[in-house]
Amino acid sequence: MKRMSDATAIVVLTRQGLATAERIRSNLAGARIHGYAPRVPDADARFNEVGVELRRLFAEGVGIVGVCAAGILVRTLASLLSDKREEPAVVAVAEDGSAVVPLLGGHRGANELACRLGEALRVPAAITTAGETRWNVALDDPPAGWVLANPRRYKSFMARLLAGERCRLDGEAEWLERSELEFKSDAALTVRVTDAPAIGDEDTLVFHPRRFALGVGCERGISEIELVGLVERTLADADLSPLSLAGVFSVDVKADEPAVHALAESLGLSARFFDPPTLEALTPRLANPSDAVFREVGCHGVSEAAALAAAGDRGALRVAKTKSRRATCAIAEAPSPIDAMRLGRARGELTVVGLGPGTPGWRTPAADQAIRSATHLVGYRGYLDMVPASADQVRHAHSLGEETERVDQALALAAEGHRVALICSGDPGVYAMAALVFERLEVSEHARWKRSEIVVSPGVSAMHGAAAMAGAPLGHDFCAISLSDLLTPWTVIEQRLRAAADGDFVVALYNPASNRRRRGLARALDVLASKRRPDTPVVVARAVGRDEQSVTVTSLRDLDQSSVDMMTLLIVGSTETRVSGGFVYTPRGYRGKRTRAEGADDDRASSPGSRATGHGRSK
Ligand code: SAH
Repeated sequence: MKRMSDATAIVVLTRQGLATAERIRSNLAGARIHGYAPRVPDADARFNEVGVELRRLFAEGVGIVGVCAAGILVRTLASLLSDKREEPAVVAVAEDGSAVVPLLGGHRGANELACRLGEALRVPAAITTAGETRWNVALDDPPAGWVLANPRRYKSFMARLLAGERCRLDGEAEWLERSELEFKSDAALTVRVTDAPAIGDEDTLVFHPRRFALGVGCERGISEIELVGLVERTLADADLSPLSLAGVFSVDVKADEPAVHALAESLGLSARFFDPPTLEALTPRLANPSDAVFREVGCHGVSEAAALAAAGDRGALRVAKTKSRRATCAIAEAPSPIDAMRLGRARGELTVVGLGPGTPGWRTPAADQAIRSATHLVGYRGYLDMVPASADQVRHAHSLGEETERVDQALALAAEGHRVALICSGDPGVYAMAALVFERLEVSEHARWKRSEIVVSPGVSAMHGAAAMAGAPLGHDFCAISLSDLLTPWTVIEQRLRAAADGDFVVALYNPASNRRRRGLARALDVLASKRRPDTPVVVARAVGRDEQSVTVTSLRDLDQSSVDMMTLLIVGSTETRVSGGFVYTPRGYRGKRTRAEGADDDRASSPGSRATGHGRSK
């Protein structure tokens, strides 16, 4: 699921560049400064390898303003360049702010971005793309609400214009008429503006204004094929290009209908939803009002009303309700392009994100992406502090405890159509919020909560971080047990400890002890010691992945329980776990065995064999 980001990263490599970066940031809402850690340690985000960071941002579709030599950006990104229509904007700014050069994605926002930065820094942006400089228009980057139907023809069309050929305008478009392109009615080249399907040719560029709203209604569970088929037939019968559509619109009870989203995706559009009262207000303008629909959803029409609601007061039905067996659609037209994002609301999204144990290096790119693209962040204050601030994100910081409040707030915000990230440490499904999200959804009476898209974005759990720092103690069967008896009765915890001891599992102990709760730890260790030798290795991992990390290896006999607190995770070895050369590991039993040729039951079958490097091991 690749999402292009609309974020901008200001990448700065030197102290001297920081002041320029800060001026840029204050002029770009939501932009963050990414600093080269050894030289700019107090940036919003830090990195250690320039090439890795630039390539990562670029691959994630993040716009880049590099406060550095243009050559650094060019050399670093050269090998990644492929399709200019997919790639983010890249702008180079001189360290002292004396030059602004849009390098890549000129017509994907880089020119505009460079002009804004140029204004802020009081230098002219070095715009080098042809159309802008000659005619004050970018034909491959039409204004919002317009689409170029045949972008592949753009280059040769432009080359001919630059060589002096003339073009004519077939249709109406104010932005083209306002440009400095000189239209001649007998020219060989044509710029066509139309609502109808048209693929153009080598002499013709085709533009569609997105001024049509597609309204849809359907029964629950309808197939995507039926809905897409209905829409395709309807568009063809009305002689309308799908590129003339601005969005797919429906009533909010359909916000979680997979076919509606599949339809929107197949059209490359957003799906937006109106509530029944908004749609009901349009009843006088419906061609086919229906009492049956009113009884079911609370408004007299869905597809016609949603299309009209999107097309606005000056809109009108172009195609009245048409039907397939289980779906309906209608199309309304507006006099000018429709901005779908400002109409109704999106289906909400709640991503439950795991930050990993601490260091951003142990955070997955997917988690970073979910955080960056969220409009609202919800979480325990301490975890939110681990996420760089962004001016256009709303933060909802909670105190310890308040778990149910946190989850309910996240669900309610998503139900309003927001993109919400609920932030957890480690993995969000391990003693964290993800399970509570599903629990709250199951008992909730808010039908709207259930219509949001819920995504769980995995993270590196404390257990994985601790194990990696110590060696490979989880190399054979293991289990995790939380010693917190706030929600689980101690008798149950002890029963599980006994079973783990009997089963000779390596045991990761989460929530081992707090200031007040200490007896459980002593008891847990007794239970495990009853089946293990006193010299069984124990990993005491405190604050792994953070600056104050300490990972020590001791034994059941020598463990200093007073060193264990809520920031600690313990890994108690099985009878097989050993310490060798400073590493703790639990063997899988290869020694003395023939290597099995098939090897299908281990990670040799799936791993490309790379060795990840960690946060740095402290012994
Ligand atoms: N979801 C988290 C666990 C939350 S429960 C995860 O997957 O890691 C909280 C417990 O996790 C703490 O009491 C501690 O035992 C452990 N823990 C969380 N972060 C840790 C860290 N950085 N170092 C060591 N233990 C940690």
